[in-house]
This record gives sequence, C-alpha cells and structure tokens, in this order.
Amino acid sequence: MTGAGRGVFEARETDLAGRTGRIETNHGAVETPAYVPVVHPVRQSVPARELREMGFGMVITNAYITWKRAREEASRRGIHDLIGFDGAVMTDSGGYQVLEYGDVDVGPDEMAAFEAKIGSDIAVPLDRPTGLGITRAEAARRVRYTLRISREALAGAAGGQIWAGPVQGGRYTDLVTKSARGLSRAGFAMMALGSPVEYMESYDYLSLARMIAAARSSIPWSAPLHLFGAGHPLTIPMAVALGCDTFDSASYMLYARNGRYIARDGTRQIGEMSAFPCSCRVCSSHRPAELARLPETERTAGLAVHNLHAIREEVDATSQAIREGRLWEHVMSRARAHPRLYEAARVLAENPALLAEGTPLFKRRAAFLYDAIDQYRPEVRRYHAMARRFRSRARRMVVIREDRQKPGYASGAYARARAAFGGCQVCQYSPHLGLIPIELSDVYPAAHHESADVPYDPAAFPEFGATWDEFVRRNRITEIIYDRTDAFLEHFASRTRGIRRRDISKKGKTG
Ligand SMILES: [Zn+2]
Repeated sequence: MTGAGRGVFEARETDLAGRTGRIETNHGAVETPAYVPVVHPVRQSVPARELREMGFGMVITNAYITWKRAREEASRRGIHDLIGFDGAVMTDSGGYQVLEYGDVDVGPDEMAAFEAKIGSDIAVPLDRPTGLGITRAEAARRVRYTLRISREALAGAAGGQIWAGPVQGGRYTDLVTKSARGLSRAGFAMMALGSPVEYMESYDYLSLARMIAAARSSIPWSAPLHLFGAGHPLTIPMAVALGCDTFDSASYMLYARNGRYIARDGTRQIGEMSAFPCSCRVCSSHRPAELARLPETERTAGLAVHNLHAIREEVDATSQAIREGRLWEHVMSRARAHPRLYEAARVLAENPALLAEGTPLFKRRAAFLYDAIDQYRPEVRRYHAMARRFRSRARRMVVIREDRQKPGYASGAYARARAAFGGCQVCQYSPHLGLIPIELSDVYPAAHHESADVPYDPAAFPEFGATWDEFVRRNRITEIIYDRTDAFLEHFASRTRGIRRRDISKKGKTG
C-alpha cells in the first residue's frame, strides 16, 4: 500500500490554520505540531537514542548522505537500526544538496527505491529546490521537474511508507500554489514545503510566511504539511498558525558548534551570557562561563541538548495556545521578538479564508485585542460580518463606547442611553469589533474580549469604517447620536453624508 489517497493525519484541536493532531507512521504515531531534529546518519553529537528519551517521536536524516556513506549497511540493517532510533524516521532525499552543490550523482528513481528499502517512515522524492535568487522561469522549470519525478516516485512506491510531496516555488507564490495543487492531484497524503532556509537566514520571514500560506491553501486539510529547515523558536508559532504540522532543522547542532544558545527571543553567544534563562538539565547544572570552558565536544553536546529543549518548549507553548484558542495572541506576542517577524504577521491578515476554517465559532477564553492588526482575527471578522447583516427597525442610532461590563445590554451606559433615547437603535462600539448592536452584545466575542482603553487611530481601522458604512446604508439611518468629543467616532460620523449628527449630552426629544 502506498501513501496515495490514504489518510495519515488526524486533527484534534484547531485554531487559525494551526492544529494539534497525530500522524500515523509505520513506527508509531507522531504527535503534532512536532519539531523533527535532523540527525546525521553516521556521526551524531546528540545520540538519536537520547532524542527519543527527550520525547522526540520523529527524526529526519538525509537519505543522500546515507546513500553516499553507508549504502550497504543501511540497506542491510535499515535506517532505524543504523541511526539507533526506534520512533518514526523521515528521510530527506538530497534536494538540499542539489541546492548547495548543484547536481547529485544519483537519480530520483534509484533514490526512491533506496528510501523504501531502508524503511523510511516518511520519504521525500529527490526534488530540485528553488533557491533564492533564481529567475521565475528557472523556478517554474524546477517545479515542473519536481512534480514529474514525484509522480513517478509515488507510482513506483512499494515500501508502505508515507510519501511527502516536495512543494517548490520559493518566493513565486503562484508557483508554490501550482506545485502544491499538482502534488495533491498526484495523491500525496503529506506535503513538505522546501527552500525556506535562505529566507530564514536573510530574515525574510514575510516571503517565508507567504510561501507557507500559498502551500497550505492549495492542499487538503487532511494532509499534514512539513516545513523543511525552519525549526527555530522564532518562526515556529507563525509557521504553525499558517498550517505547518511538522518542521525540521539542524540549527540546534549548527548553533551549538558555534557556541550559540537558542533563547525564545533569539540566539546568543554563551560568552556574552551571565545567566541561563532556562532550567533544562544543562542550564540548571552549569553557569554560562562553566559551559564555555568545557572541552569543545562536551560544550557542543551540552549546548545542543539545551537548544533542543528550547525548541521543544516553543512547540509545546504553541500547542497549548491552540488548545486554549489563543494562537493569534501567541503568534503576535512572539512576533515582537524581531521587527521582520512582526512585518510577516500581516500574512495572517492577508489570508482570511485560510484562517477561518480552523478557528472555532466560540471560545471559552476571552479574546485579547491590542493593535489594529487584531481587527483581522477570524473571530473579529465574523463579528463584523454579522453586524453588517443586522437589520434595525429604528432609523435613529445612538452609539456609545463599550465598557468593561459585559454583555453590553447589562451595562449602566446602555440603560442610560435607552432611558434618554427611547426608540433609537443603540449600538456600542469597539475599534476592533466595530459596531455592536445591543441585540448582538452577548454574541461571541462581543461579550468575551478585553481591550486596552487607549486612544486608537481611526485611520488604522478600515474594517470599522466598512461596517459603519454598511450598517448606516442598510438600515437607512437618518440620525446618529454620539459623544462628539470622541475623535474616533467623529472621524467616521463626519464622513457619512446626509445624516444628522447630534451630541449625546443634549438629551431629550430629538429629530
Ligand atoms: Zn537550557
């Protein structure tokens, strides 16, 4: 049985395009989202057995290097025995070596047969990655080539493993879409998005996020998506929110060799640290200066173990955020670790359809709303859509700022507005949620959110403006009563033509 058409993934909780779940492999179930450490087939600084003990359910190793360095032995013993890991083993087939060194001296057919023979649990065809700085025409050629050899690899697959379709295209997101759709049609049960490393290295998180969004939007929800080479705590929350289920990286080891320590907000040289902000077994038993003085192999192994711990901590925190329905808040808070990452957060706003599907209609926890970008949260967009469809019987409208007391219909401000202006439609407003018709004030998230009471720039809230305009037009509002010293409301009310505006402090009979 091949991976074609077979469901290999089961989702549990979802939020935005992120999900927790499990991938069923020939060597057990892998809980996702999952960081997949890269291990060298023959030379490991942290033994694969130790990775298993640390709780990693899957590792990835390079089938091309295995083929080069231990072909006979791997064929005889199988990849699990060779590397000493009894969980799931994914094999990357050498596409990255193509990117680094040009061509490799093995064909895709031979490589696919080798991956099957050594018992890989998740195998990847020998693709041709689209690196940074190539022309669109060249990228399109590589996408076509990868698609062709991938179809052949899947058709000839006989090892019973999952085949992951290598999605290429790089920053040409239309090519990413084409690549992902072609692989889906070919029947790949899982996808693996290639070429992000160079974008990561140049801090081009925006392109990376757009690549992920394009890939995720073009494959079935049931197919897990792997992201090659991007397992850094900085990018994990964003990658998961955009729909990546697994991601590998060798950074824990590469950084360790250079004396670099992975922290939640970036990477540091241990020589520059006075204390470790971590309580893993390495950090709790060494001071930075002590670790720095250890012999090189010990220091590297120690740092690698800590780095793995730091990465796993971020994966766990992201899973927990999905469970609690706080993934948006989590991504936005982590995005502040680097301005280029914060810049990439807008990709969440650019992909409403992608994010809406997995976001629950109701959440138990209140949504925390901070910046203008939060108007694009799926829950907030849904509320705007509802307010825009709302039918009012009144032609006159009183608009008051929402207050801490929720739901709005139970608030003192509403009681006073209703007493003073009977027969008017009463709406509360929030810069993020827009107009909150009092009749909808107990609907999620109108009654389930917190925001800071600070001045907001009305020009930064186009969603508010669109809901305002639609509400006024659809309900043929003739008069708006509001606090005319409220600059936020005045901005929208003053640009609405043919409407009487009245200050709320002038009570009594109106119109
Ligand atoms: Zn540590």
